[in-house]
Amino acid sequence: MEEKIWLSSPHMGGSEKKYIEQAFDGNWITSLGPNICGFEEDIQDFLGEGVHVAAVSSGTSALHLALILLGVQAGDEVLCQSLTFVASANPIIYLGAKPIFIDSEEETWNICPIALEEAILDRIKHGKKPKAIIAVSLYGMPYKVNEIQAIASKYDIPLIDDSAEALGSSYKGRKCGTFGDLSIVSFNGNKIITTSGGGALIVKDKAKRDRAVFLSTQSKDDAPHYQHSQLGYNYRLSNVSAGIGRGQMEVLEDRIMQRRENHNFYVEVFKDIPGVSLLTEPNEDYFSNYWLTAILVDPKITNCNRETIRLALLNEGVESRPLWKPLHLQPIFENCKFYGKSIAENLFEHGLCLPSGSNMTMMQKNRIKAILQNVLGV
Ligand SMILES: *Cc1c(COP(=O)(O)O)cnc(C)c1O
Repeated sequence: MEEKIWLSSPHMGGSEKKYIEQAFDGNWITSLGPNICGFEEDIQDFLGEGVHVAAVSSGTSALHLALILLGVQAGDEVLCQSLTFVASANPIIYLGAKPIFIDSEEETWNICPIALEEAILDRIKHGKKPKAIIAVSLYGMPYKVNEIQAIASKYDIPLIDDSAEALGSSYKGRKCGTFGDLSIVSFNGNKIITTSGGGALIVKDKAKRDRAVFLSTQSKDDAPHYQHSQLGYNYRLSNVSAGIGRGQMEVLEDRIMQRRENHNFYVEVFKDIPGVSLLTEPNEDYFSNYWLTAILVDPKITNCNRETIRLALLNEGVESRPLWKPLHLQPIFENCKFYGKSIAENLFEHGLCLPSGSNMTMMQKNRIKAILQNVLGV
């Protein structure tokens, strides 16, 4: 069998080792040190004016902290996009709060403004005003930012911007990771850049950022002994991991370009194949990092379905994956409410994510192309 092609694997730039070595040389093998500050500054510089960044151990912990900073408590309700990775909603459960899931719209596959407003009105009618809205830029594609922000401010509900998959994407020239009252990104191994495991919370004022760091380092009061008057967490990023992050930030622009090239490659592959469409930018307001290229397969037009394609690729050692299974259809969220129709469910049924690593070679892409053309009968 030929070499395995992964959906999205880590892609080091080269200078990561230099920063790790600096960590070793200074014996900063802890969650304190120059790489952490440096990495936070790099992210701040990338995202632009007026943001403050706290580097943490994962995107999930960043979301958990975001909900804590908003004061979400047991019994509260939080609105969350249904078509997303489970980590978008798990932190709601950590706090004993209840996720309420919202359908997608067909243009960006993200949270539907109509279903969102319907849910807010209905929850208010039930005497339960939601405490937050979690919107996700899936596969790098920004959600309908203006519309979602307008609804959030109309009803005065804080917006959490889950940009775990969308570092480097933008909407109307504004960067993903800056749209929420609080935003998060992830540096997990499969994301556009990685620290092997890590994430960041992005906020608009320094006091909030400092509070996030306080919470993420066990909420130590100012005292010579360890004194705690609040519940804390061990969520800070390590200085070694942050070293990887500093090296990765140097190549982020390249990674965005490479992922976008992958997307263009697939656009060419499917150009003349009826029944297969891609998740693409709806208009020039949108700029996607195309973290993953995703397709929809219409089995009535093609001679196959997304599963036939997935298995054909797998058979040749190529990894692909169905879209995220909507969370309202997941066994662990069985008893949660859902607002909308069946857009997310249909996307899940017909959607497939194709190999999108920035380190894919032309030869690997041609292998993928041949398999796709073969299974689709062209
Ligand atoms: C990856 C991801 C997360 C969680 O990030 P981790 O760093 O893996 O904890 C959250 N939301 C979405 C949409 C993700 O894709």
